[in-house]
Amino acid sequence: MQNTRQMKIGNIVIGGGAPVAVQSMTNTPTADYDATYRQVCALAQAGCDIVRVTLNHEGAVESFAKLCATSPVPIVADIHYNARLAMAAVEAGASKVRINPGNISRVADLKELAKLCAKCGVGIRIGVNMGSLERAVVEEYGRTARAMVVSALDQAALLEGFGLHDICISVKSSDPKETFDAYRMLAESCDYPLHIGVTEAGGGERAIYKSFDCLGGLLHLGIGDTLRVSLSDDPVEEVRAGIELLRAVGLRRDYVDVMGCPTCGRTTYDVVGISAALREAVASNKSSLKVAVMGCVVNGLGEAGDADIAVVGLTRDKVDIYVLGERRMTLSPDEVVEAVCGLIPTVEKQKEARNG
Ligand code: SF4
Repeated sequence: MQNTRQMKIGNIVIGGGAPVAVQSMTNTPTADYDATYRQVCALAQAGCDIVRVTLNHEGAVESFAKLCATSPVPIVADIHYNARLAMAAVEAGASKVRINPGNISRVADLKELAKLCAKCGVGIRIGVNMGSLERAVVEEYGRTARAMVVSALDQAALLEGFGLHDICISVKSSDPKETFDAYRMLAESCDYPLHIGVTEAGGGERAIYKSFDCLGGLLHLGIGDTLRVSLSDDPVEEVRAGIELLRAVGLRRDYVDVMGCPTCGRTTYDVVGISAALREAVASNKSSLKVAVMGCVVNGLGEAGDADIAVVGLTRDKVDIYVLGERRMTLSPDEVVEAVCGLIPTVEKQKEARNG
């Protein structure tokens, strides 16, 4: 990761090389404590590190305070338009406040908020969205990646001037390329920790592809300290997508990676079915092993070279199992899932012993 400043959000640290934290946001009415608490717990259970909750009216402050006191993960207040509510959130125990420069613009309000945050050790996320940029910035730069960066950095300079240094930034558009460009520009211009995400991505697989396109590219460049995969869906799905993204880019190795060949006319057995059954069987296994399910011996063995366990097809009824490059047994394809699951703990120990 790029060398960003560190920032504490409750007990989670972002930036400065800390693991990339996964965020999501509740969609229950915040004033309904029971429903929101249940959702926060479901998100935490799914692996969410930080949960954002809207604080959109005075009537929700009491419930918000109770959430901050009882949540298993840090709570971030999402504030639009009303700096008073941002201050109420800090006093209620928020671990961070997210504001949008496009809709909290009175300098006196920002000053008061920044001073309170600095006093309480609470950071602010400057959350710029393309759709709600300040008019002056749009007039000068248009609705462009640069406009989002200028808006964010202007706001950061203001907050710094008021003595607040715990700042993180997001610059989100619904266009993955524009978002990507904005974060690259931002990363070149400052060392603030960056919250990355594509906004209004929509729902379903296409929305996930959009986020992965942008966020995956950024993470490979070392850009991004915390992320949200925004989806029009159950927020738990955002967390699952965020975790899978971190796994896909190699930033989390807390799972069994079931690789497999794409199958072709040489495939000797049911690679597709066995891969699916194996993925399901190891879904909650945290060993960082690679298992390759390969359809034939022609290319299979060589291509499974870096797998810890490789299943290589011989005939319709026979597969060989290789462990750390050595042939260990010949089985029927029906026996593969059970055999591989049985091998995982031993292979993990063997690898640990090898690595000292
Ligand atoms: S490993 Fe064999 S079966 Fe699988 S895609 Fe390659 S050649 Fe085809």
